[in-house]
Amino acid sequence: MNIILLGPPGAGKGTQAARLVEKYGLKQLSTGDMLRAAVASGSELGQQAKEIMDRGGLMPDALMIDMISERLDQPDCAKGVIFDGFPRTVAQAQALDELLAKKNLSLDAVIEIKVDEAALVGRIESRIAQSDGGAVRSDDNVETLRKRLEVYREQTAPILPYYQAKGALKTVDGLKSIDEVSAQIEEILEGARSRSGVEG
Ligand code: AMP
Repeated sequence: MNIILLGPPGAGKGTQAARLVEKYGLKQLSTGDMLRAAVASGSELGQQAKEIMDRGGLMPDALMIDMISERLDQPDCAKGVIFDGFPRTVAQAQALDELLAKKNLSLDAVIEIKVDEAALVGRIESRIAQSDGGAVRSDDNVETLRKRLEVYREQTAPILPYYQAKGALKTVDGLKSIDEVSAQIEEILEGARSRSGVEG
């Protein structure tokens, strides 16, 4: 089973993905985590990524598509994956469709965790307050968040109609509690699993 979690920064994609890893044995593929690992390693890619991430921009599509393609070939992805933070543009979504087809993999659900922007700004402000002024991530501040939200609105949100047109998009209410959001997602995945079972 391969699924995509979509939603603006701070919607809780990472938290929900971690729960799905536990429950279904899927592998979480977070392109943000991969990029942060590259930053930590000090590689050339990492230096480019740090600059772009700190200002809330997006890395080039081709680079991200190659990164995901290579990652999907590794054995720990065999049981299925949760795409967390990818695709982020329509070009990435189209490339992912082609990649999955070429690798003979299915896409079983695309789940949007919907949260409004005012709530997200409030969430991140409290996250920063809790961390005593020292931001948890260097891109974790209100100014970068606003930029990231703008990028989401302009470049990532157009993915929603792309998947909607394919009949693949399901939406959950991300303002509910973590447990309630998980329950909504599990309901969708149970439906996807039984459908793929019926289809063989
Ligand atoms: P995330 O942890 O998913 O919020 O990602 C953190 C940052 O990494 C983003 O703000 C982007 O700068 C970059 N990034 C992560 N995934 C992608 C992607 N699929 N395409 C382009 N840039 C990305």
